[in-house]
Amino acid sequence: MLERQQDDEFHADGRITATRLLGCPRQTILLDTRPVFLDLRRAYSAYVGSERHDAIRRRTRGAFDELKLDAELFGTRVAGICDKVRHDMTEIVDWKFHGSVAQQMKWKRHRAGQPDRELAAQLNIYRLLIARSVLQVPDDDFRPKLTAWHMAMVSAGRGPGEPAPVPKGPRGWVPEEPPPPAFEVKLPIMSEREIAAMRPFDEDDSPGTQPYTVAQIVKMYEAYYEAVAAGSEPDAALKAHVPLVGRGVWGGKLCTRYCAALEICDAVEGIRR
Ligand code: SF4
Repeated sequence: MLERQQDDEFHADGRITATRLLGCPRQTILLDTRPVFLDLRRAYSAYVGSERHDAIRRRTRGAFDELKLDAELFGTRVAGICDKVRHDMTEIVDWKFHGSVAQQMKWKRHRAGQPDRELAAQLNIYRLLIARSVLQVPDDDFRPKLTAWHMAMVSAGRGPGEPAPVPKGPRGWVPEEPPPPAFEVKLPIMSEREIAAMRPFDEDDSPGTQPYTVAQIVKMYEAYYEAVAAGSEPDAALKAHVPLVGRGVWGGKLCTRYCAALEICDAVEGIRR
């Protein structure tokens, strides 16, 4: 895990990437610029995801894998690493790896027809970067299929002849069938303007819980690095220009369960848990 982090030059210089525009910018800046005590519990899921990406990539045929991209988008330089692009440029594919609970949630949303907005934005950023830097065509001329796979280690489903789950207890609780270990989703085309206006992590059933748009997150990165280059003290620049974007996500669990920069972020804010 340490070797993987140490060897990651792509994310090591503060560059703005597709996934970094769809997450907490403070986390990115802190992990890029400060020494961080590696808490295995919070880094493990990202590590497992990277290992599984490598395993799938070794079997990728007829496609560019881990295509490194860089172009102007949202008025700044944006980079990205695209999991897979078919050689004939007809399809962009991304793989996501989850725990079983997250897989169940993704599966329910998929079956309910709810769009996966962050994933659609991520793949459309790759689409726009390819159009601008590789193909050098107008954005609208490059409209490949955008495909994502959600994958997880889940318990086995019912086998042949096994009865369906029956309600249990006084409340009639019915055990859930496990989600499939892998399923495919097709994502819609989004324009640069639509991506810029979307608010990452905003909940479909409670819109407005996330106040910051992708365009605002771009400005946070720019303002922070400009302030530091102009001589501002890094903590002061963070407080002045980079709000705590992650705090409202999943009732605070993005910070406490998944953010490797939690302790430093708390120290900057003077928060003691
Ligand atoms: S603790 Fe939360 S707000 Fe702070 S950097 Fe991490 S994700 Fe962002």
